Amino acid sequence: MHEFLLAERELRRRFAELEKEMWARFAAPDLHPVDLEKIQKMYDEYTMVETFNDAGDKATVITTTVRPSQHLTRARYTLERIDGKLRIKRLEWKCQVCEANGNITLSDGKVRECMVCHGVGWFVAPPPKKE
Ligand SMILES: [Zn+2]
Repeated sequence: MHEFLLAERELRRRFAELEKEMWARFAAPDLHPVDLEKIQKMYDEYTMVETFNDAGDKATVITTTVRPSQHLTRARYTLERIDGKLRIKRLEWKCQVCEANGNITLSDGKVRECMVCHGVGWFVAPPPKKE
């Protein structure tokens, strides 16, 4: 199991590297929608085997892990021409609460501004925190 976790960690590391390369290729230099090094650090620090319950032919393992989002969502890209090439300048995620409508219809039929996205319908991916 420990080997699996090491292999999984290596997979995440490689994935993070490839993702970083991809963003460098298509996005404006100052856009980093995900701090991949921070995510990798999170995997390294938090991924661990908590319990290993060996019962002969079977075993139950409980681990702490970092799970990538399993929900399908929509991303909205804003492109900008930089040095003659269209590059991703902004990345937003759809508000799951109002389905990007910006408002919600209540059970009494009244329409209210979405309290989660404040009527925008989309969230800007947060910039990486400088440490
Ligand atoms: Zn919303």
